[in-house]
Amino acid sequence: MLKLGKVIADLSKPNQVELVLKGGRGGRGNQHFATSTRQVPRFAEDGEKGEEKEIILELKLLADVGLLGFPNVGKSTFLSVVTDARPKIANYHFTTLEPNLGVVKTKNGDGFVVADIPGIIEGASEGVGLGIQFLRHVERTRLLLHFLDVSGSEGRNPVEDFYTINKELKKYSEKLSKRRQIIVANKIDVVQDDTLLKEVEKLAKTENLELFKISAATKQGVEKLIDHVSEVLKTLPKEELIEVEDKKLYTLDDEEKNTWEIKKENGVFKVTGKPIQRLIGRINIEDNESFYYLQKSLRDMGVDSKLREMGICEGDTVVLEDWEFEWED
Ligand code: GDP
Ligand code: MG
Repeated sequence: MLKLGKVIADLSKPNQVELVLKGGRGGRGNQHFATSTRQVPRFAEDGEKGEEKEIILELKLLADVGLLGFPNVGKSTFLSVVTDARPKIANYHFTTLEPNLGVVKTKNGDGFVVADIPGIIEGASEGVGLGIQFLRHVERTRLLLHFLDVSGSEGRNPVEDFYTINKELKKYSEKLSKRRQIIVANKIDVVQDDTLLKEVEKLAKTENLELFKISAATKQGVEKLIDHVSEVLKTLPKEELIEVEDKKLYTLDDEEKNTWEIKKENGVFKVTGKPIQRLIGRINIEDNESFYYLQKSLRDMGVDSKLREMGICEGDTVVLEDWEFEWED
């Protein structure tokens, strides 16, 4: 059965290995069945069939820092200034249709990865517009730089933008909404009237967030911000940011393990279930002794008496998973 939406493993570490399926138990050679009365058994078990499972592999970006903000606030410009990444920069919305990654090389040599996330718009958490895919990518970041345009060039209010985006974040993931944010007031090179800048300063105080004033275009304040980010990152753990919801998925649950059922369809008795699969997987049907073992096991499991209870008669067809037999009394 295909279960969607459950995270069974988070492959985020180098050389990480996760068991997502169990192979069948190996067969046993005939010496395993030697007893004092059956000294040279001809009887051997085949190996069991393995399990089958459909798994969706999802690629998520692994960035240390995510750039948050409405379209056109200057995120791509910033990325192109601090890294070698060359994202499209243009004065229209949604120029960035897929996230861009860039590596910032710091002075002391250790770099960090920045992801430019295309503009999140209202309704992103409900899958409206371009937002939702990108929200998934910010999930992995340790620090968010929340870009606000304080120049008023877009005619927007940066304080409202700040809350709109945080509301979307929260709707999408409580955990993500608590990720550390630094406010970046961008485009200070074209600020003519500092009303918006003042409002943003007040916002930073109210929200108890750090504020950096920069111009991505002229690089004013950029180096200071980068140095700070690099220091902050040192204090943020590289924790597991994705919660693995269902570690158990790849083991057989107990119910599945031990139940079998019989259905009568058009006069045919169909016996299904894990124990039956396991049993026939270990039987070598060509071999009389093996076949005898099958019959005995079916008796021990109660399949035999259940079939009789259901009114099975000589000559009726029994299907054990994918094997067909004729019933003999
Ligand atoms: P994004 O949508 O947030 O990635 O924004 P972009 O980086 O594509 O920038 C949108 C527009 O704003 C472009 O025309 C940029 O040249 C301009 N821009 C970005 N940063 C600054 C800045 O610091 N000062 C000025 N004057 N313009 C900027
Ligand atoms: Mg962009």
